[in-house]
Amino acid sequence: MSLSATSQSAPIHIIGGGLAGSEAAWQIANCGVPVVLHEMRPLRGTAAHKTAALAELVCSNSFRSDDPEHSAVGLLHEEMRRLGSLVMRAADANQVPAGGALAVDREGFSAVITAALEAHPLVTLCREEIAGLPPPEWDSVIVATGPLTSAALAGAIAQLVSEEALAFFDAIAPIVHRNSIDMSVAWLQSRYDKSGPGGSGADYINCPLSRARYEAFIDALLDGQKVSFHDWETTTPYFDGCLPIEIMAERGRETLRHGPMKPFGLTNPKAPDVKPYAVVQLRQDNRLGTLFNMVGFQTKLTHGEQVRIFRTIPGLESAEFARLGGLHRNTFLNSPKLIDETLRLRAAPRLRFAGQITGCEGYVESAAIGLLAGRFAAAERLAKPLRPPPPTTAHGALLGHITGGHIETIDAGPRSYQPMNINFGLFPPLAQSPTRGSDGLRLRGTAKTLARKAAISRRALGDLALWIAGGDHVLAAE
Ligand SMILES: Cc1cc2nc3c(=O)[nH]c(=O)nc-3n(C[C@H](O)[C@H](O)[C@H](O)COP(=O)(O)OP(=O)(O)OC[C@H]3O[C@@H](n4cnc5c(N)ncnc54)[C@H](O)[C@@H]3O)c2cc1C
Repeated sequence: MSLSATSQSAPIHIIGGGLAGSEAAWQIANCGVPVVLHEMRPLRGTAAHKTAALAELVCSNSFRSDDPEHSAVGLLHEEMRRLGSLVMRAADANQVPAGGALAVDREGFSAVITAALEAHPLVTLCREEIAGLPPPEWDSVIVATGPLTSAALAGAIAQLVSEEALAFFDAIAPIVHRNSIDMSVAWLQSRYDKSGPGGSGADYINCPLSRARYEAFIDALLDGQKVSFHDWETTTPYFDGCLPIEIMAERGRETLRHGPMKPFGLTNPKAPDVKPYAVVQLRQDNRLGTLFNMVGFQTKLTHGEQVRIFRTIPGLESAEFARLGGLHRNTFLNSPKLIDETLRLRAAPRLRFAGQITGCEGYVESAAIGLLAGRFAAAERLAKPLRPPPPTTAHGALLGHITGGHIETIDAGPRSYQPMNINFGLFPPLAQSPTRGSDGLRLRGTAKTLARKAAISRRALGDLALWIAGGDHVLAAE
């Protein structure tokens, strides 16, 4: 059902034109409801954004795996596509090669989103900071201001929920100019030669380290000068999925060799018989192929130390850095306690929250929660009931994590709410996991795990189709 004919005059306001806010605006407008999108850039910047574009990707250019069968984030991609996501449309149109991952040209990606929203007749873009709680006459608001919410608004929200927001650190990985990498030392190859969407199987630049070079590198990391902490930062924990490399090195000298520097699935064509002890991988960062980011190399080393230490990596001796790594603080609500199942703040239901400020983690997850917030808000404006998506779908599983839904019953006990990427652990277990393959043989080990993931994904897409067909939810006109 297209609802554009029932266009309502009172707009829904969205604060923040990032991944979540842009997707929410698109979904609302496509339901026939006017929307005003308030974005403070370029008038006021953040510590990480560099442009005035909507949906700017502040660090990596990767949307992670695009495998809808065996990867939870790949499944989320697929569900978003089926729900008319603008973010996924822009990502698909701006792919750059990245092995099994969906990576994008960041400028092209944001340009598509900015142009689509600017051109939409029901979207008004206001370049302004909302520096406190929105005016009372805004009866439906989505707050999608992200991990770097401006201080004035963050303070007002903290007062409203009378709870201390939790916080942790994320760190940014450096970006290197391709033409400064010594390709007589480095080589192009994807791990296990995986080609993935838009890839060739040779999408990463690999820099090999011998054991001696690796040991020297670890020493340099451990001794290197780090950015010092502010008082409020000393008690802020790290998010485990985004640990700085020097923190990984502190946890054990071999930790990096089993993480971002693992040498497995890679063979140096220049010396096929010499197995590197460790490998640094760089992934294409823009469509032109002129910039490559150092995969998993988030760091809080000082800029001077980064240049000095990273130039000890074979192939990067003359590396020129387009951007160096850095640190930032993240802020998110204790959502399971504060937010209802359609993302409204219990204490002030005219306010919905979307994106990373709800405690989901990552570009894709933020956009997916923006998609849901937009649909919930549009349905409410149109007085159409909208059930949340089933918890068996990736959208439902993520929403469940944020709002406390079904996970509580599986995982009884005290909750310590932490941001999380989508993963199969957030889905309700299968009634019956597959035990035999199509050949009738008993499944074991990895094959069994893959079959279980594939079954969860099939169930998700089936249940999403039923939800879409259910008739009691708003369908985007796209
Ligand atoms: C430094 C850094 C590195 C990251 N690296 C990665 C990564 O590599 N991969 C990944 O998947 N995720 C990464 N993340 C997480 C990433 O930010 C989120 O996944 C995603 O961008 C969050 O989407 P969002 O829409 O919630 O917030 P954002 O995309 O940050 O959008 C929020 C928007 O709100 C605007 N805004 C803020 N306050 C106000 C106000 N008061 N009034 C008006 N506008 C306002 C901001 O300018 C911004 O445009 C990183 C985050 C940071 C900060």
